[in-house]
Amino acid sequence: MSEGLQAPRGTLDWLPPRSAARRAMIDRFREIFERAGYGEAMTPVFEDTSLFARTAGESSEVVGKEMYVFEDQGGRSLALRPEFTAAMVRAYLEHGLSREPLPVRLWSAGSCYRYAAVQRGRYREFTQVNAEAIGSDDPAVDAELIALQLEWFTSLGLAGLELRLNTIGDPTDRGPYLERLRAYLDAHLDDLDGEVRRQRDLNPLRAFDTKVPTSAAIMAGAPKITDHVSLAAAEHFATVRAFLDARGIEYTLDPTLVRGLDYYSRTTWEVSWPALGAQSGIGGGGRYDGLAAAIGGAPTPGVGFACGVERVLLALEEQGRSPAPATPTDVFFAVVAGAARPRLHALMDEARRAGLTCEADLAGRGFKGQLKQASRIGAAWTVLCGDDEWARGSSLVRDMTTGEQSEVPLDLLVGHLRATITGWTDAA
Ligand code: AMP
Repeated sequence: MSEGLQAPRGTLDWLPPRSAARRAMIDRFREIFERAGYGEAMTPVFEDTSLFARTAGESSEVVGKEMYVFEDQGGRSLALRPEFTAAMVRAYLEHGLSREPLPVRLWSAGSCYRYAAVQRGRYREFTQVNAEAIGSDDPAVDAELIALQLEWFTSLGLAGLELRLNTIGDPTDRGPYLERLRAYLDAHLDDLDGEVRRQRDLNPLRAFDTKVPTSAAIMAGAPKITDHVSLAAAEHFATVRAFLDARGIEYTLDPTLVRGLDYYSRTTWEVSWPALGAQSGIGGGGRYDGLAAAIGGAPTPGVGFACGVERVLLALEEQGRSPAPATPTDVFFAVVAGAARPRLHALMDEARRAGLTCEADLAGRGFKGQLKQASRIGAAWTVLCGDDEWARGSSLVRDMTTGEQSEVPLDLLVGHLRATITGWTDAA
């Protein structure tokens, strides 16, 4: 594997056994969201570049520096999706989902691409799970999404998470505030890093996203958007909090949490697992009432979030949790009599159809090697068939824990295994 899109060696979430963990995490996400009325949306891996440029904003780091952009044979500029939200709202508008009962609730899981400096927890191809509720400005929706997101983390066994919450009001209310913020930035310009200085003209709110410690310290003293939002936005926020409080969800109010994308309005939140250090953000979301209009649709409120599966997996592993305990093998078929193999493999298929997890030697191992393999994969039972057993039309079934074994005619083998392992018999 060349240096490039994927995770560095050692963190191969894409191959067994770790791939089972990511699959289990996504399955859990699906269960939780489908129970709450969310349906799966599968949007394309690439979209018109302009979709992301118009919504995330040219000045954002994701669009400005991190997008994989290419031209297709027809001369169109396309981008690998850096996130899901814009694509979900595009799909909502393009496919007339506004005619469905609102809000339309969608979830999705898949790869996203950002040209980021690869490090632990930060990859160029990574997996996001996300959920969006489009078409309602009810603060109960914001709170429900936060609650469902936390439920996913909790169901995976993650503890010690931090939820930070803020409101950034509506873009229409921001004029006078942005003037004050610019004046503050101007007063500290010499001490701010180059990126923040650049944002002063492009999108001053984004100065709060700085990761440079000296700039962050200065931004801690800057006037906060939260103190300048309209009454309607403040009421919305109070209601979101009431819905969270009623659920007993704890959070910290963080007036510097503005998130990096232009289309956010009102509620913003981020979930982190602080022990992950620089890449502690495991999920973030917000309301984006301006997004649909920004891509040419009718003004439509919306709210959603995304979580990075690889980072959540890292956090789980650091806490000693596995979202997917390996499926134990029920039976290993150690068939030494060559002539017996076809019949025993057919019986193995039958046992699998009966719900048992079965494997056989596929590498020409001798008797000892096959038994060793059975122990290595943790098989609970081994079916042994040597020349003598084959001549008698039977096999030995060995309990790998006690070493006890009994002879079972091949005609009765599958029924015997099923009854022994699952307790289920034909007569039952
Ligand atoms: P964002 O859209 O930047 O808020 O990202 C949402 C979530 O995706 C973050 O909280 C991370 O968990 C995850 N994420 C973002 N960028 C990356 C990346 N380059 N590698 C791995 N995970 C990422």
